[in-house]
Amino acid sequence: MLVTAIYFNKRKLYFSVVLAVVLLFTISFFFESVRAYQDPFEMIVVSTILIIGGFILYTVLSHGKEMWDQLAQTLEAQQSLLLQNQEMEGLAKRDGLTGLYNQRSFQERLDEELRKWKHEKDQLFLAVMDIDNFKQVNDTYYHQIGDQVLNWVATTLQSLQRVDDFPARYGGEEFVLILKRSTPDEAFEQVELFRKMIAAQSHAAMNDNIVTVSIGLCAYRRQGLSKEELFAGADAALYEAKHSGKNKVVVWQEKEK
Ligand code: GH3
Ligand code: MG
Ligand code: MG
Repeated sequence: MLVTAIYFNKRKLYFSVVLAVVLLFTISFFFESVRAYQDPFEMIVVSTILIIGGFILYTVLSHGKEMWDQLAQTLEAQQSLLLQNQEMEGLAKRDGLTGLYNQRSFQERLDEELRKWKHEKDQLFLAVMDIDNFKQVNDTYYHQIGDQVLNWVATTLQSLQRVDDFPARYGGEEFVLILKRSTPDEAFEQVELFRKMIAAQSHAAMNDNIVTVSIGLCAYRRQGLSKEELFAGADAALYEAKHSGKNKVVVWQEKEK
């Protein structure tokens, strides 16, 4: 009877009480030696104890089951809340159109990278990328096609992502990429590869025309350099790329004094 309580199963409990009483009567009926030591009153007392014991176990079991069900429900509710929170957090970090990380996530990641930066061996680069003449794409083929192009650029950027890279949509038709553990040449090659892939693809929805991107690349070069200074370097290089013909990568160079 006690063992059945572990299973929280009322049917098992009924069965064990009935079995105990039946066994008691069967044993005393068939075994003379047992019967000799028992009187009918004892039999009734023992049976009553068994039934009362069963009833107590039944009450404990009912309360225990109720508590168990409540606990399971609370746990389930907590778990789904946790999942919902994680989902919301994930959505808050991403850009709605392209699914890339948004500007806020990018700023947080860059802050973190700069905090970790100790010396030049921790190679760290920032690329700022801007689609060329994108207003024209919108004006000629409408915003829906513009959105498709943005999505395609984002997918291409993601397809080139290496383990430590962090691509994000900065806003509008501008993207950013944090590159780590790369030599200056490797960082350049990586963004140059992206630029070439973008320029190599013609788009049926744009009468087989292509889109191009201009990219400014800047290295984090000394302790204490602020995030704003790093961004300004990449932005200045992007400005130069735009003003020297577009569809190119320009690396920021320290001006000689
Ligand atoms: P440049 O080569 O100098 O970068 O010229 P541009 O035309 O790309 O730059 P401009 O800043 O003049 O125009 C950017 C355009 O990007 C204007 C804006 O309508 C468009 N744009 C920004 N965000 C979105 C978007 O989410 N979807 C679409 N379709 N267009 C967007
Ligand atoms: Mg722009
Ligand atoms: Mg542009």
